Amino acid sequence: MSSLRFKVVEEAFDRKAVSVDIPKERPQEYYAKLVFNRNKMFEYLPQTTYQALVNAIDNKEPLPRSVADSVAEGMKRWAIDNGARHYTHWFQPLTETTAEKHDAFIQHDGKGGVVEEFNGKLLVQQEPDASSFPNGGIRNTFEARGYSAWDISSPAFILDKTLCIPTIFVSYTGESLDYKTPLLRALTAVDHAGTAVARFFDPKVNHVISYLGWEQEYFLVDEALYSARPDLVMTGRTLMGHESAKNQQLEDHYFGAIPSRVEAFMLDLEIECHRLGIPAKTRHNEVAPNQFELAPIFEETNLANDHNMLLMSIMGEVARRHNFRVLLHEKPFAGVNGSGKHNNWSLGTDTGAMLFSPGKTPEDNLRFLTFVANVMAAVHRHNALLKASIMSATNGHRLGANEAPPAIISIFTGSHLSRIIDTIVNSDKDELIALASNEKLSVGVSQIPEIMLDNTDRNRTSPFAFTGNRFEFRAVGSSANCGSAMIALNSAVAEQLIDFKSAIDRRLEAGEELNHAILAEIKILFKDSAAIHFDGNGYSDEWKAEAERRGLDCEASVPLIFDAYLSDKSIDMFSRTEVMTKNELEARNEVKWEMYTKKVQIEARVLGDLAINHIIPVATRYQSILLDNAFKLKSLFPGQKGEELAASDLTAIENLSSHIKTINTEVEEMVDARRVANRIESEREKAIAYHDTVAPHMETIRYHIDKLELMIDNEMWPLPKYRELLFIR
Ligand code: ADP
Ligand code: MG
Repeated sequence: MSSLRFKVVEEAFDRKAVSVDIPKERPQEYYAKLVFNRNKMFEYLPQTTYQALVNAIDNKEPLPRSVADSVAEGMKRWAIDNGARHYTHWFQPLTETTAEKHDAFIQHDGKGGVVEEFNGKLLVQQEPDASSFPNGGIRNTFEARGYSAWDISSPAFILDKTLCIPTIFVSYTGESLDYKTPLLRALTAVDHAGTAVARFFDPKVNHVISYLGWEQEYFLVDEALYSARPDLVMTGRTLMGHESAKNQQLEDHYFGAIPSRVEAFMLDLEIECHRLGIPAKTRHNEVAPNQFELAPIFEETNLANDHNMLLMSIMGEVARRHNFRVLLHEKPFAGVNGSGKHNNWSLGTDTGAMLFSPGKTPEDNLRFLTFVANVMAAVHRHNALLKASIMSATNGHRLGANEAPPAIISIFTGSHLSRIIDTIVNSDKDELIALASNEKLSVGVSQIPEIMLDNTDRNRTSPFAFTGNRFEFRAVGSSANCGSAMIALNSAVAEQLIDFKSAIDRRLEAGEELNHAILAEIKILFKDSAAIHFDGNGYSDEWKAEAERRGLDCEASVPLIFDAYLSDKSIDMFSRTEVMTKNELEARNEVKWEMYTKKVQIEARVLGDLAINHIIPVATRYQSILLDNAFKLKSLFPGQKGEELAASDLTAIENLSSHIKTINTEVEEMVDARRVANRIESEREKAIAYHDTVAPHMETIRYHIDKLELMIDNEMWPLPKYRELLFIR
């Protein structure tokens, strides 16, 4: 009966590691081989074109139209020399994946044949027929078309014999329909605002750069097992499955030996990454069985984000070569850890200073405290928005849901930084002036370098942690486009830095001394943002109560969390920083609510089908086997003896009946709830209805199915169980 399950389990468990095609060259020789980086530009472009392009990139200026044809010509030659046959504009629509439409490099030659053709116009701007990408109504109101335009700050690359040109994706009226456009605007905002503040410490600063180092967590499942689980195939997570007797309680998977099949996959993936210029560096097992992590060396945020998007798409392909499927879902399995994508984030100057690193001189330390205080203030001011920026139907299972930590943003600083903050907050005016005088500062604050070095204080429960020279935004989901979090964070910090600059300017005009003005403002920021600072256990119930008292945003319903994008505070911040207009924010929220609804809708349908077509028939069949047995026992052993012998069967039969009955009613009620919700016009209200009235049925149905799994004959159970899915041999 369950022969399919046994067949796929056997197939998966027999599988051996696939051998990897290891290049003969050393990594430094094939690194970025498939990227049109400066080396390739230098080689393939005429000198003047090369200069013009590099100039435009370095000074963040648009590429002069006059050189676009020449760039396109060189890029085409390079791409064709490297086996490319097509080109595409590669962009990041609001679906959380990447999009591409390929065109071949061919054009009629006028003589009945073709020539290889690619010009500046095709390189710089295209008009993909993109009417089916989510747009939240923007294109309906204005113009039906979307335009993609080359982002020269991210180099073109070759993937699957196709030249991919990273582009932004905007509407006819210039409104963003993607993640890259607002991300680039946010990076510009934090550059301008950050530079103005960094110049208080070093007038030579011309740019502030935002850096991102993501850590991608993921699960691997054997493809045979995966294909026998319709829920995994269609929703990316298991909608049912009783916990395995052993899962992560022995903590033996984290940093443990990597299974050889997985190691082969990782090696293959790393080679692919390196060819594409993704600086993949770290790999290890994660906490849950079958859970792994890959992290590159950090890069400028825009490039790092492109690289993460690229990684997520190539991972799937490489995994297939190894008979695996990658699960990027935030919570593919109940009862074991979910997957995140820590966003290690920092700011640095074009003069080489890292702004969240305490320095060697008192001035450096004052700068460090300035930027840390501003980040804390920004995160405090926009904690609801930052939570919204990482929230999704899938990440909701990792934050705020049943098994998950509370959905609250707070900052962990560690005890050393905490002490410094306390000192500043508790200093009166004279003490601050004393601290601000260089000498005192070197006594008070310049101890930071030494103490930071042994700052091994790690708090794994904090959603936003200071980790020595950077902040780690840990609440980001494993399947997310990091752009979403990076847009909110960089914009919020930009706004805060603008305000800080004004506050200092006012003090200077009033005749205050610079260092004192800065320390006095830092004191105000630390004091006012004290509520966001929490070094305790972020997973505890006490913290939830405490956070409420502190006035932090504690909303746990995903559709309501999205409201934070449309608060006056957020609209004002995004408009002051010129990152997004109200119109854009509204449109994007429509997309968020719609996506939420669709995801829950698909899950509810899949679960309903599985319950009715896979689980209940098996439960009924097993029940009738028991009935048959009880009947025979009773007829062979009449009277008291027969009653006794059949007793356990009869109890099981009753239990089965009760679970079957509940599942049937719940599925019916869930279908009704969907019907009602589907009639709702407003995307927001519909998403709320799906959250409040559809999703709860899924949990109940699952509960009863998981109980059945424990009762029914193992031989009959139709779907691979957790113990089979979760342990790669
Ligand atoms: P852990 O698991 O201890 O957090 P990892 O080594 O897995 O550390 O990941 C750390 C990530 O942080 C890497 O991508 C690394 O390049 C990045 N990183 C290190 N320093 C910075 C920084 N100053 N700014 C941004 N990212 C950084
Ligand atoms: Mg980390």
